[in-house]
Amino acid sequence: MSRKVRSRLDSRSRRDVLKAAGTAALATSASVVLGGSAPAAQQGAPAIRTNTQAGRRIRSFIKFDREIPSMQPVTLRALTGRMVAIRTEAAQTCYSSVGQVLMPSANAPQNIGVVGHGGVGIVEAIGPEVFAVQVGDRVVVNFHAACGWCYNCVKSRSDQCVNQGGGSQQIPAGDTADGRPVFSGTSGMTEVMIVNQEKCVPVFTDVSSVELSMLTCVGNAGLGLATTKCPVEIGSDVVVFGCGPVGLSAIQGARIKGAARIIAVEPIRYRRDLALKLGATDGVDPNQYTARSPIPGGAGISGDMFKDALVDHLREMCKGKTDRSFAGGGRVGPDHVIEAVGGDYGGVKPSEVSGPDPTGLTVLSQIWQLCSSTGTSVSCSIGYPAGSVVQISATNWADGAKHFWGGTCGGTNARRDVPRYVRLMEAGKLDMKSLAARTFPLAQTTEAYRVAMNRTVVATVVTPNA
Ligand SMILES: [Zn+2]
Ligand SMILES: [Zn+2]
Repeated sequence: MSRKVRSRLDSRSRRDVLKAAGTAALATSASVVLGGSAPAAQQGAPAIRTNTQAGRRIRSFIKFDREIPSMQPVTLRALTGRMVAIRTEAAQTCYSSVGQVLMPSANAPQNIGVVGHGGVGIVEAIGPEVFAVQVGDRVVVNFHAACGWCYNCVKSRSDQCVNQGGGSQQIPAGDTADGRPVFSGTSGMTEVMIVNQEKCVPVFTDVSSVELSMLTCVGNAGLGLATTKCPVEIGSDVVVFGCGPVGLSAIQGARIKGAARIIAVEPIRYRRDLALKLGATDGVDPNQYTARSPIPGGAGISGDMFKDALVDHLREMCKGKTDRSFAGGGRVGPDHVIEAVGGDYGGVKPSEVSGPDPTGLTVLSQIWQLCSSTGTSVSCSIGYPAGSVVQISATNWADGAKHFWGGTCGGTNARRDVPRYVRLMEAGKLDMKSLAARTFPLAQTTEAYRVAMNRTVVATVVTPNA
């Protein structure tokens, strides 16, 4: 339905609407439902819901059982409840999906699902109970979005919502050619995303969808680490491990919050250079500082478990101008440390150079050791070998003043924060264009993930309807 038609409908009286629906005058809709329930009566919500999706054929990149995903025709079902149909304009290829896309899985997924971690697109149709978005809206569909009602959501940790997709994961969006139900979830690798409205953040901006697609998962994660839970103060020193899309977003978040020194630790040269362009003040190649050995007898009063060349080098860089403790001196280590590295998925070696430890576990130990005694370390990565254990100092863990935050999006609340990030992009303070380096058509989704895996560019984006 066009905006023009919608505005005509919205301006009509309730009696007119009932009459029109009763005489089936709106023959273009497969069904017309009067929105008289409490949510629908909210100001600005459309009075009419449309649903024209049943039987529509689209193409989606689908994961079956343990197989690597493939492009499949899908016949959509009618939208129900709070479901929204969105014509996908851009979807980023999150590195954490690389294993799922490029390698047969050890375990079958729960449902046959469309691949992806969110996307950006235009709302084409809405279910009968939708009130938050309208046809024609551009929306950012978030991988970490909130139902608003679960235990974690009401505790202001919507990034840990226990109702993934606001429940949309449980409802099939369509069927394959051989009649198997397809679950859309947070998928972006499809011509049309079918998600619950809780996943959608309407955005009213001229920023391109390719740039906005960085906010569906990776950008949110990095910005969340630096701006939500990590209390980066003006004039502080921040070390960021890893300069992929998450780390480069964290670096920008630290810059925006007023950090004085931002040290980017990254083995790939072009990523260190980009970090310097986006706000880092220094770049360090971890492969230059690989010496590391356990300290005999374990952690002493300092809490150090290892003699670690990289930690020593970074501490030296962050040393204050004076050691005089009565003159503000005495700091050991940076104020805040942000980890955005993770393990090489499935042990697959990228074509670009890797860091010293492909499991990513050493970095988790290093960020804790490196962080100053009153500082904060935050982490968000995945891809560690099953059963992994991280060694940290019990002394500092139990009796120290260090803080640690873990978790996927570092506390980002998509509905609150995506509009903030968009404003920063509009103001030229947040550069997502430099991160979204290459675009691919839907038919080349596998190749887009392969490039992401090899790290030859920072991030790749699939544009299914370009
Ligand atoms: Zn992701
Ligand atoms: Zn929730």
